[in-house]
Amino acid sequence: MKYISTRGGGVPQTFEQVLLTGLAPDGGLYVPAELPHFSAQEIASWKELSYPELALKIVAPFIGDEIPAEALRKIITESYAEFDHPEVAPLTELAENDFMLELYHGPTLAFKDFALQVLGRMLDFVLVKNDQRAVILGATSGDTGSAALEGCRHSEQVDIFILHPHQRVSEVQRRQMTTVVGDNVFNLAVEGNFDDCQSIVKAAFADQSFLPKESQLVAVNSINWARIMMQIVYYFSSALRLGAPEQAVSFSVPTGNFGDIYAGFLAKRIGLPIKQLIVATNSNDILHRFISGNEYSTTGLQHTFSPSMDILVSSNFERYLFDLFDRDAQQLSEFMSKLGKQSQHVSDEKWQQMRECFSSARVDDALTCETIAKVFAQTGKVVDPHTAVGIRAARDCNTDPATPMITLSTAHPAKFSDAINEAGLDAPELPLHLRDLFEKEEHYSVVPNKLAAVTEFVKTHSHN
Ligand SMILES: *Cc1c(COP(=O)(O)O)cnc(C)c1O
Repeated sequence: MKYISTRGGGVPQTFEQVLLTGLAPDGGLYVPAELPHFSAQEIASWKELSYPELALKIVAPFIGDEIPAEALRKIITESYAEFDHPEVAPLTELAENDFMLELYHGPTLAFKDFALQVLGRMLDFVLVKNDQRAVILGATSGDTGSAALEGCRHSEQVDIFILHPHQRVSEVQRRQMTTVVGDNVFNLAVEGNFDDCQSIVKAAFADQSFLPKESQLVAVNSINWARIMMQIVYYFSSALRLGAPEQAVSFSVPTGNFGDIYAGFLAKRIGLPIKQLIVATNSNDILHRFISGNEYSTTGLQHTFSPSMDILVSSNFERYLFDLFDRDAQQLSEFMSKLGKQSQHVSDEKWQQMRECFSSARVDDALTCETIAKVFAQTGKVVDPHTAVGIRAARDCNTDPATPMITLSTAHPAKFSDAINEAGLDAPELPLHLRDLFEKEEHYSVVPNKLAAVTEFVKTHSHN
Protein backbone atom coordinates (compact mmCIF):
# COMPACT_ATOMS: atom_id res chain seq x y z
CA MET A 1 0.00 0.00 0.00
CA LYS A 2 1.26 3.46 -0.90
CA TYR A 3 0.35 6.73 0.80
CA ILE A 4 0.10 10.22 -0.66
CA SER A 5 -0.01 13.69 0.89
CA THR A 6 -3.27 15.66 0.81
CA ARG A 7 -1.25 18.66 -0.45
CA GLY A 8 0.04 16.75 -3.45
CA GLY A 9 3.79 17.09 -2.79
CA GLY A 10 6.52 14.44 -2.66
CA VAL A 11 6.46 10.89 -3.92
CA PRO A 12 4.16 8.14 -2.61
CA GLN A 13 5.39 6.67 0.67
CA THR A 14 5.26 3.17 2.13
CA PHE A 15 3.25 2.28 5.25
CA GLU A 16 6.49 2.09 7.19
CA GLN A 17 7.59 5.56 6.11
CA VAL A 18 4.22 7.00 7.04
CA LEU A 19 4.24 5.23 10.42
CA LEU A 20 7.64 6.73 11.24
CA THR A 21 6.75 10.36 10.72
CA GLY A 22 4.14 13.05 11.28
CA LEU A 23 2.89 15.52 8.70
CA ALA A 24 4.12 15.14 5.13
CA PRO A 25 6.98 17.54 4.28
CA ASP A 26 4.57 19.72 2.27
CA GLY A 27 2.38 20.19 5.37
CA GLY A 28 -0.30 17.72 4.25
CA LEU A 29 -1.58 14.54 5.87
CA TYR A 30 -0.95 11.08 4.50
CA VAL A 31 -3.86 9.08 3.08
CA PRO A 32 -3.89 5.74 1.25
CA ALA A 33 -3.33 6.18 -2.49
CA GLU A 34 -6.30 3.90 -2.98
CA LEU A 35 -8.68 2.14 -0.62
CA PRO A 36 -9.27 -1.60 -0.39
CA HIS A 37 -12.87 -2.79 -0.67
CA PHE A 38 -14.48 -5.70 1.17
CA SER A 39 -17.55 -7.40 -0.33
CA ALA A 40 -20.66 -8.09 1.76
CA GLN A 41 -19.89 -11.77 1.45
CA GLU A 42 -16.42 -11.32 2.85
CA ILE A 43 -17.64 -9.13 5.71
CA ALA A 44 -20.33 -11.71 6.53
CA SER A 45 -17.64 -14.37 6.89
CA TRP A 46 -16.06 -12.41 9.78
CA LYS A 47 -18.98 -12.74 12.18
CA GLU A 48 -17.35 -15.27 14.49
CA LEU A 49 -13.90 -13.70 14.62
CA SER A 50 -12.35 -12.44 17.85
CA TYR A 51 -11.51 -8.73 17.99
CA PRO A 52 -7.80 -9.24 17.20
CA GLU A 53 -8.57 -11.63 14.33
CA LEU A 54 -11.03 -9.14 12.86
CA ALA A 55 -8.46 -6.35 13.22
CA LEU A 56 -5.97 -8.43 11.24
CA LYS A 57 -8.39 -8.88 8.33
CA ILE A 58 -9.21 -5.19 8.17
CA VAL A 59 -5.76 -3.66 8.51
CA ALA A 60 -3.78 -6.20 6.46
CA PRO A 61 -4.45 -4.53 3.08
CA PHE A 62 -3.37 -1.13 4.46
CA ILE A 63 -0.01 -2.56 5.48
CA GLY A 64 0.63 -5.03 2.68
CA ASP A 65 3.69 -7.19 3.22
CA GLU A 66 5.63 -4.53 5.10
CA ILE A 67 4.98 -6.25 8.40
CA PRO A 68 4.95 -10.05 7.98
CA ALA A 69 1.63 -11.69 8.90
CA GLU A 70 2.94 -13.52 11.96
CA ALA A 71 4.57 -10.40 13.40
CA LEU A 72 1.40 -8.40 12.80
CA ARG A 73 -0.68 -11.06 14.53
CA LYS A 74 1.60 -10.92 17.56
CA ILE A 75 1.50 -7.10 17.71
CA ILE A 76 -2.29 -6.99 17.52
CA THR A 77 -2.93 -9.89 19.89
CA GLU A 78 -0.61 -8.49 22.56
CA SER A 79 -2.11 -5.03 22.22
CA TYR A 80 -5.68 -6.10 22.88
CA ALA A 81 -4.64 -8.53 25.61
CA GLU A 82 -3.99 -5.35 27.64
CA PHE A 83 -7.73 -4.62 27.66
CA ASP A 84 -9.74 -5.63 30.70
CA HIS A 85 -12.84 -6.88 28.87
CA PRO A 86 -12.88 -10.18 26.93
CA GLU A 87 -14.80 -8.61 24.05
CA VAL A 88 -12.35 -5.66 23.97
CA ALA A 89 -15.10 -3.29 22.73
CA PRO A 90 -18.41 -4.44 24.27
CA LEU A 91 -21.79 -3.05 23.20
CA THR A 92 -24.40 -1.97 25.75
CA GLU A 93 -28.04 -1.45 24.91
CA LEU A 94 -29.42 1.81 26.32
CA ALA A 95 -32.89 1.57 24.77
CA GLU A 96 -34.42 -0.15 21.77
CA ASN A 97 -32.04 0.23 18.81
CA ASP A 98 -29.95 2.62 20.88
CA PHE A 99 -26.49 1.28 21.74
CA MET A 100 -23.29 2.46 23.32
CA LEU A 101 -19.92 1.03 22.26
CA GLU A 102 -17.63 0.93 25.28
CA LEU A 103 -14.20 1.95 24.07
CA TYR A 104 -12.71 2.53 27.50
CA HIS A 105 -11.47 -0.88 28.60
CA GLY A 106 -7.84 -0.23 27.69
CA PRO A 107 -5.03 0.65 30.11
CA THR A 108 -5.75 4.41 30.19
CA LEU A 109 -9.56 4.24 30.02
CA ALA A 110 -10.11 6.11 26.74
CA PHE A 111 -10.49 4.95 23.14
CA LYS A 112 -7.03 6.21 22.27
CA ASP A 113 -5.61 2.94 23.66
CA PHE A 114 -7.07 1.10 20.64
CA ALA A 115 -4.56 2.75 18.37
CA LEU A 116 -1.68 3.63 20.66
CA GLN A 117 -1.18 0.14 22.10
CA VAL A 118 -0.68 -1.08 18.55
CA LEU A 119 1.33 1.93 17.40
CA GLY A 120 3.96 1.45 20.14
CA ARG A 121 4.46 -2.19 19.21
CA MET A 122 4.51 -1.50 15.47
CA LEU A 123 7.16 1.17 15.93
CA ASP A 124 9.27 -1.20 17.93
CA PHE A 125 9.02 -3.92 15.30
CA VAL A 126 9.96 -1.62 12.43
CA LEU A 127 12.76 0.11 14.34
CA VAL A 128 14.35 -3.16 15.44
CA LYS A 129 14.21 -4.43 11.87
CA ASN A 130 15.89 -1.24 10.61
CA ASP A 131 18.28 -1.03 13.57
CA GLN A 132 17.04 2.49 14.10
CA ARG A 133 15.89 4.59 17.07
CA ALA A 134 13.03 7.03 17.32
CA VAL A 135 12.12 10.02 19.41
CA ILE A 136 8.42 10.47 19.96
CA LEU A 137 7.41 14.01 20.70
CA GLY A 138 3.84 15.01 21.45
CA ALA A 139 1.74 17.62 23.22
CA THR A 140 -1.35 16.72 25.15
CA SER A 141 -4.11 18.40 27.06
CA GLY A 142 -5.63 15.10 28.03
CA ASP A 143 -5.97 11.52 26.92
CA THR A 144 -3.38 11.21 24.16
CA GLY A 145 -0.39 11.63 26.46
CA SER A 146 -1.16 8.82 28.85
CA ALA A 147 -2.24 6.44 26.07
CA ALA A 148 0.95 7.16 24.12
CA LEU A 149 3.14 6.67 27.19
CA GLU A 150 1.41 3.39 28.03
CA GLY A 151 1.71 2.23 24.43
CA CYS A 152 5.40 3.06 24.07
CA ARG A 153 6.95 2.49 27.48
CA HIS A 154 8.06 -1.04 26.56
CA SER A 155 9.59 0.03 23.24
CA GLU A 156 13.31 -0.44 23.50
CA GLN A 157 14.03 1.59 20.40
CA VAL A 158 11.99 4.60 21.43
CA ASP A 159 12.35 7.58 23.75
CA ILE A 160 9.06 9.31 24.36
CA PHE A 161 8.65 12.94 25.42
CA ILE A 162 5.18 14.23 26.22
CA LEU A 163 4.55 17.91 26.86
CA HIS A 164 1.63 19.09 28.95
CA PRO A 165 0.77 22.60 30.13
CA HIS A 166 2.09 22.97 33.70
CA GLN A 167 -0.75 23.08 36.25
CA ARG A 168 -3.40 23.12 33.54
CA VAL A 169 -4.42 19.47 33.22
CA SER A 170 -6.66 17.63 35.65
CA GLU A 171 -5.01 15.70 38.47
CA VAL A 172 -6.22 12.31 37.19
CA GLN A 173 -4.93 13.10 33.73
CA ARG A 174 -1.57 14.38 35.01
CA ARG A 175 -1.09 11.40 37.30
CA GLN A 176 -1.97 9.00 34.49
CA MET A 177 1.02 10.42 32.63
CA THR A 178 3.50 11.15 35.37
CA THR A 179 3.20 7.79 37.13
CA VAL A 180 4.19 5.81 34.02
CA VAL A 181 7.58 4.36 34.82
CA GLY A 182 10.30 3.68 32.26
CA ASP A 183 13.77 5.02 31.60
CA ASN A 184 12.66 6.00 28.09
CA VAL A 185 9.61 7.95 29.30
CA PHE A 186 9.73 11.72 29.91
CA ASN A 187 6.96 14.06 30.98
CA LEU A 188 7.62 17.75 30.48
CA ALA A 189 5.39 20.29 32.19
CA VAL A 190 5.75 23.39 30.06
CA GLU A 191 5.24 26.76 31.74
CA GLY A 192 2.59 27.81 29.25
CA ASN A 193 -0.78 26.69 27.89
CA PHE A 194 -1.70 23.83 25.56
CA ASP A 195 -1.25 25.95 22.44
CA ASP A 196 2.29 26.79 23.56
CA CYS A 197 3.01 23.07 23.91
CA GLN A 198 1.63 22.39 20.46
CA SER A 199 3.63 25.24 18.91
CA ILE A 200 6.83 23.87 20.42
CA VAL A 201 6.12 20.40 19.02
CA LYS A 202 5.31 21.83 15.61
CA ALA A 203 8.50 23.89 15.55
CA ALA A 204 10.57 20.87 16.62
CA PHE A 205 9.15 18.85 13.72
CA ALA A 206 9.87 21.72 11.31
CA ASP A 207 13.55 21.93 12.32
CA GLN A 208 14.86 18.55 13.43
CA SER A 209 18.53 19.55 13.66
CA PHE A 210 18.48 18.94 17.45
CA LEU A 211 17.81 15.22 16.93
CA PRO A 212 20.44 12.61 17.66
CA LYS A 213 21.96 11.23 14.45
CA GLU A 214 20.08 8.37 12.74
CA SER A 215 17.08 8.95 14.97
CA GLN A 216 13.61 9.43 13.60
CA LEU A 217 11.10 11.99 14.95
CA VAL A 218 7.65 10.40 15.19
CA ALA A 219 4.25 11.98 15.89
CA VAL A 220 1.68 10.14 17.96
CA ASN A 221 -1.27 12.48 17.60
CA SER A 222 -4.04 11.48 15.20
CA ILE A 223 -2.26 12.90 12.18
CA ASN A 224 -0.35 9.59 12.34
CA TRP A 225 -2.14 7.38 9.83
CA ALA A 226 -1.68 4.17 11.83
CA ARG A 227 -3.95 5.55 14.53
CA ILE A 228 -6.82 6.16 12.12
CA MET A 229 -6.34 2.73 10.59
CA MET A 230 -6.67 0.89 13.91
CA GLN A 231 -9.87 2.77 14.73
CA ILE A 232 -11.69 1.44 11.66
CA VAL A 233 -11.91 -1.96 13.33
CA TYR A 234 -14.47 -1.26 16.06
CA TYR A 235 -16.94 0.14 13.54
CA PHE A 236 -16.90 -3.31 11.95
CA SER A 237 -16.92 -5.31 15.19
CA SER A 238 -19.97 -3.49 16.58
CA ALA A 239 -21.90 -3.46 13.29
CA LEU A 240 -21.26 -7.18 12.80
CA ARG A 241 -22.73 -7.87 16.20
CA LEU A 242 -25.92 -6.01 15.26
CA GLY A 243 -26.46 -7.88 12.01
CA ALA A 244 -24.19 -6.26 9.42
CA PRO A 245 -23.67 -6.57 6.54
CA GLU A 246 -27.33 -7.57 6.00
CA GLN A 247 -28.44 -4.90 8.46
CA ALA A 248 -27.15 -1.31 8.14
CA VAL A 249 -26.27 0.61 11.30
CA SER A 250 -25.66 4.27 12.24
CA PHE A 251 -22.95 5.82 14.41
CA SER A 252 -22.75 8.92 16.55
CA VAL A 253 -19.18 9.99 17.30
CA PRO A 254 -18.05 12.58 19.87
CA THR A 255 -15.61 14.57 17.78
CA GLY A 256 -12.58 16.74 18.40
CA ASN A 257 -9.85 16.33 15.83
CA PHE A 258 -12.10 14.30 13.49
CA GLY A 259 -9.85 11.25 13.77
CA ASP A 260 -12.35 8.83 15.22
CA ILE A 261 -15.20 9.76 12.89
CA TYR A 262 -12.88 9.80 9.88
CA ALA A 263 -12.19 6.15 10.69
CA GLY A 264 -15.97 5.60 10.51
CA PHE A 265 -16.09 7.34 7.14
CA LEU A 266 -13.38 4.96 5.91
CA ALA A 267 -15.24 1.95 7.30
CA LYS A 268 -18.14 2.95 5.09
CA ARG A 269 -15.93 3.54 2.08
CA ILE A 270 -14.36 0.11 2.33
CA GLY A 271 -17.68 -1.69 2.46
CA LEU A 272 -19.47 -1.46 5.82
CA PRO A 273 -23.15 -0.53 5.35
CA ILE A 274 -23.46 2.62 7.48
CA LYS A 275 -26.58 4.70 7.23
CA GLN A 276 -25.88 7.81 9.30
CA LEU A 277 -22.56 9.15 10.57
CA ILE A 278 -23.20 11.81 13.18
CA VAL A 279 -20.56 14.39 14.03
CA ALA A 280 -21.19 15.27 17.69
CA THR A 281 -19.39 18.40 18.87
CA ASN A 282 -19.37 20.33 22.14
CA SER A 283 -19.44 24.15 22.10
CA ASN A 284 -16.30 24.08 19.96
CA ASP A 285 -18.55 23.58 16.98
CA ILE A 286 -16.62 24.50 13.83
CA LEU A 287 -17.60 21.19 12.20
CA HIS A 288 -21.24 21.47 13.15
CA ARG A 289 -21.41 25.00 11.70
CA PHE A 290 -19.81 23.79 8.48
CA ILE A 291 -21.99 20.72 8.03
CA SER A 292 -25.25 22.41 9.02
CA GLY A 293 -24.64 25.87 7.53
CA ASN A 294 -21.77 25.66 5.00
CA GLU A 295 -19.69 28.07 7.06
CA TYR A 296 -16.12 27.05 7.89
CA SER A 297 -14.59 29.59 10.26
CA THR A 298 -12.66 29.56 13.52
CA THR A 299 -13.87 31.16 16.74
CA GLY A 300 -12.30 31.41 20.21
CA LEU A 301 -11.55 28.25 22.17
CA GLN A 302 -14.09 27.30 24.84
CA HIS A 303 -13.20 25.17 27.85
CA THR A 304 -15.92 22.58 28.34
CA PHE A 305 -16.77 19.51 30.41
CA SER A 306 -15.56 17.39 27.49
CA PRO A 307 -11.98 18.72 27.29
CA SER A 308 -10.70 16.10 24.86
CA MET A 309 -12.92 17.71 22.23
CA ASP A 310 -11.89 21.32 22.92
CA ILE A 311 -10.34 22.30 19.60
CA LEU A 312 -10.30 25.26 17.23
CA VAL A 313 -9.76 23.31 14.02
CA SER A 314 -10.00 19.56 13.47
CA SER A 315 -6.73 18.46 11.89
CA ASN A 316 -8.06 15.24 10.36
CA PHE A 317 -10.90 17.01 8.60
CA GLU A 318 -8.35 17.78 5.91
CA ARG A 319 -8.33 14.09 5.04
CA TYR A 320 -12.07 14.17 4.38
CA LEU A 321 -11.89 17.48 2.48
CA PHE A 322 -9.29 15.94 0.19
CA ASP A 323 -11.88 13.36 -0.84
CA LEU A 324 -14.68 15.93 -1.01
CA PHE A 325 -12.55 17.94 -3.45
CA ASP A 326 -12.10 14.78 -5.56
CA ARG A 327 -8.48 14.54 -4.39
CA ASP A 328 -7.59 17.87 -5.98
CA ALA A 329 -4.56 18.84 -3.82
CA GLN A 330 -4.35 22.29 -5.39
CA GLN A 331 -7.91 23.18 -4.46
CA LEU A 332 -7.45 21.77 -0.95
CA SER A 333 -4.23 23.75 -0.39
CA GLU A 334 -6.00 26.97 -1.36
CA PHE A 335 -8.89 26.20 0.97
CA MET A 336 -6.58 25.41 3.87
CA SER A 337 -4.39 28.48 3.34
CA LYS A 338 -7.36 30.80 3.89
CA LEU A 339 -8.48 29.08 7.08
CA GLY A 340 -8.30 31.34 10.11
CA LYS A 341 -8.23 34.45 7.92
CA GLN A 342 -11.72 34.40 6.47
CA SER A 343 -14.90 32.37 6.67
CA GLN A 344 -15.04 29.78 3.91
CA HIS A 345 -17.65 27.72 2.16
CA VAL A 346 -17.88 25.08 -0.55
CA SER A 347 -20.19 24.91 -3.59
CA ASP A 348 -23.81 23.92 -2.97
CA GLU A 349 -23.14 20.64 -4.72
CA LYS A 350 -20.20 19.79 -2.44
CA TRP A 351 -22.13 20.91 0.63
CA GLN A 352 -24.98 18.58 -0.33
CA GLN A 353 -22.49 15.77 -0.77
CA MET A 354 -21.09 16.45 2.70
CA ARG A 355 -24.57 16.47 4.24
CA GLU A 356 -25.41 13.16 2.62
CA CYS A 357 -22.38 11.74 4.37
CA PHE A 358 -22.60 13.43 7.79
CA SER A 359 -25.25 14.75 10.13
CA SER A 360 -24.15 16.95 13.01
CA ALA A 361 -25.17 18.45 16.32
CA ARG A 362 -23.67 20.78 18.92
CA VAL A 363 -24.13 19.82 22.55
CA ASP A 364 -23.14 22.44 25.15
CA ASP A 365 -22.22 21.81 28.79
CA ALA A 366 -25.77 22.27 30.08
CA LEU A 367 -27.13 19.71 27.60
CA THR A 368 -24.22 17.40 28.37
CA CYS A 369 -25.07 17.34 32.08
CA GLU A 370 -28.77 17.01 31.33
CA THR A 371 -28.00 13.99 29.15
CA ILE A 372 -25.80 12.37 31.82
CA ALA A 373 -28.68 12.69 34.30
CA LYS A 374 -31.25 11.45 31.78
CA VAL A 375 -29.26 8.39 30.72
CA PHE A 376 -28.79 7.52 34.39
CA ALA A 377 -32.50 7.87 35.09
CA GLN A 378 -33.37 5.71 32.06
CA THR A 379 -30.71 3.02 32.34
CA GLY A 380 -28.89 3.29 35.68
CA LYS A 381 -25.64 3.86 33.77
CA VAL A 382 -23.26 6.74 34.39
CA VAL A 383 -21.69 7.95 31.14
CA ASP A 384 -18.73 10.27 30.70
CA PRO A 385 -19.32 13.78 29.29
CA HIS A 386 -17.79 13.03 25.86
CA THR A 387 -20.09 10.04 25.53
CA ALA A 388 -23.04 12.18 26.65
CA VAL A 389 -22.35 14.61 23.80
CA GLY A 390 -22.54 11.65 21.41
CA ILE A 391 -25.72 10.23 22.91
CA ARG A 392 -27.50 13.57 22.80
CA ALA A 393 -26.45 14.15 19.19
CA ALA A 394 -27.62 10.64 18.26
CA ARG A 395 -31.06 11.35 19.69
CA ASP A 396 -31.28 14.76 17.97
CA CYS A 397 -30.12 13.61 14.54
CA ASN A 398 -31.56 10.11 14.22
CA THR A 399 -33.65 9.99 11.03
CA ASP A 400 -34.55 6.30 11.16
CA PRO A 401 -35.45 4.65 14.47
CA ALA A 402 -35.54 1.23 12.75
CA THR A 403 -31.78 1.32 12.18
CA PRO A 404 -29.58 0.48 15.18
CA MET A 405 -27.77 3.59 16.43
CA ILE A 406 -24.37 3.13 18.05
CA THR A 407 -22.82 5.94 20.07
CA LEU A 408 -19.10 5.60 20.63
CA SER A 409 -18.40 5.81 24.36
CA THR A 410 -14.91 7.28 24.27
CA ALA A 411 -13.91 7.44 27.94
CA HIS A 412 -14.59 5.82 31.31
CA PRO A 413 -16.77 8.03 33.52
CA ALA A 414 -14.29 7.88 36.42
CA LYS A 415 -11.93 9.98 34.33
CA PHE A 416 -14.21 13.00 34.12
CA SER A 417 -16.00 13.33 37.45
CA ASP A 418 -16.63 17.12 37.28
CA ALA A 419 -19.43 16.90 34.73
CA ILE A 420 -20.90 13.89 36.47
CA ASN A 421 -21.01 15.68 39.82
CA GLU A 422 -22.50 18.70 38.07
CA ALA A 423 -25.24 16.40 36.77
CA GLY A 424 -26.02 15.51 40.39
CA LEU A 425 -24.42 12.05 40.34
CA ASP A 426 -21.40 10.37 41.87
CA ALA A 427 -18.70 9.28 39.47
CA PRO A 428 -17.88 5.58 39.67
CA GLU A 429 -14.56 4.48 41.15
CA LEU A 430 -11.49 4.09 38.97
CA PRO A 431 -10.99 0.49 37.82
CA LEU A 432 -8.84 -1.68 40.04
CA HIS A 433 -5.57 -1.23 38.19
CA LEU A 434 -5.75 2.55 38.72
CA ARG A 435 -7.01 2.71 42.29
CA ASP A 436 -3.54 3.49 43.62
CA LEU A 437 -3.06 6.36 41.15
CA PHE A 438 -3.04 8.93 43.93
CA GLU A 439 -0.44 7.09 45.98
CA LYS A 440 2.07 6.52 43.21
CA GLU A 441 5.18 8.61 42.80
CA GLU A 442 5.08 11.18 40.00
CA HIS A 443 7.91 11.87 37.56
CA TYR A 444 8.03 15.05 35.51
CA SER A 445 10.25 18.00 34.74
CA VAL A 446 9.04 21.57 34.62
CA VAL A 447 10.56 23.40 31.66
CA PRO A 448 10.32 27.03 30.45
CA ASN A 449 7.93 27.80 27.61
CA LYS A 450 10.76 27.82 25.05
CA LEU A 451 11.53 25.62 22.05
CA ALA A 452 15.25 25.58 22.91
CA ALA A 453 14.55 24.36 26.45
CA VAL A 454 12.55 21.41 25.10
CA THR A 455 14.94 20.45 22.31
CA GLU A 456 17.88 20.65 24.71
CA PHE A 457 16.02 18.36 27.11
CA VAL A 458 15.33 15.86 24.34
CA LYS A 459 18.94 15.97 23.21
CA THR A 460 20.36 15.30 26.66
CA HIS A 461 17.85 12.63 27.67
CA SER A 462 17.41 10.48 24.58
CA HIS A 463 19.38 7.25 24.45
CA ASN A 464 21.63 7.32 21.49
C1 LIG B 1 -9.61 12.24 21.83
C2 LIG B 1 -10.97 12.10 22.39
C3 LIG B 1 -12.12 12.44 21.64
C4 LIG B 1 -12.06 13.05 20.26
O1 LIG B 1 -11.53 12.19 19.31
P1 LIG B 1 -11.08 12.73 17.87
O2 LIG B 1 -10.50 11.57 17.18
O3 LIG B 1 -10.05 13.79 18.16
O4 LIG B 1 -12.26 13.28 17.20
C5 LIG B 1 -13.36 12.20 22.21
N1 LIG B 1 -13.48 11.69 23.45
C6 LIG B 1 -12.40 11.37 24.21
C7 LIG B 1 -12.60 10.83 25.57
C8 LIG B 1 -11.11 11.54 23.70
O5 LIG B 1 -10.05 11.23 24.45
